[in-house]
Amino acid sequence: MARPRPLLAGNWKMHGTRGSLGEIAALRDAVTAGRTRGTDVLVCPPFTLVMAAAELCAGTGLTIGGQDCDPQPSGAATGDVSAEMLRDAGAGAVIVGHSERRANHGETDETVRAKAEAAARAGLMAVLCVGETRAEHDRGETLRVIGRQIDESVPPGARAAGLALAYEPVWAIGTGLVPSPEAIGEVHAFMRRRLASLLGPEGAGVRLLYGGSVKPDNAAEVMGIADVDGVLVGGASLTADEFLAIVEAKR
Ligand code: PEP
Repeated sequence: MARPRPLLAGNWKMHGTRGSLGEIAALRDAVTAGRTRGTDVLVCPPFTLVMAAAELCAGTGLTIGGQDCDPQPSGAATGDVSAEMLRDAGAGAVIVGHSERRANHGETDETVRAKAEAAARAGLMAVLCVGETRAEHDRGETLRVIGRQIDESVPPGARAAGLALAYEPVWAIGTGLVPSPEAIGEVHAFMRRRLASLLGPEGAGVRLLYGGSVKPDNAAEVMGIADVDGVLVGGASLTADEFLAIVEAKR
């Protein structure tokens, strides 16, 4: 089976104001010039920048996404943004279930599944994050936790084109720590098998991303691991130069 096309995704988290749109424009220019050929590139800035960023990138190969969405299309949910609103703003994707949202906003696997279903309903690709905490890792529970998160948060009818699954060990996010290539490979092989049993043949096409302290100097090694179809990058996606160095490490 052919490997899925790589996806390199940036998560800006709560960083960036209008002054940062120049980074998106620089990235768009690099994509347009062919520097990222052979890969899909996605950047998820804060909500406030989604529409402006999407307008800058309209008709180019650089997709803009949101970092979260509410499960409902509209309603009494002060401060929240729906998948339909993101789509209307020009987004093509949305991150759901990031560990910072699971930890800081009490999101359960059930909530995450509802958000992934909302993304599909709105025509957005969901980048669904799973990952164990340091304590779970130290207790040897990594595969059990990832298995539960997949079973309970991946929508049963998910299509490969509408889903990417990001393995982000909580203890690797923003810490400079990265699991060994063997450990990442073991989790990704497990995720691939689990998706196959959940989604059938469709599971083989779902892109499996690794996220957690990916930088230009470790990107090539991470992306060379079997069943790693791309990366989800936080801090190192904030400037076009650093993110491009990661994208280009893939090639
Ligand atoms: C993230 O927040 O999704 C992430 C992977 O962060 P960082 O690359 O900064 O570890």
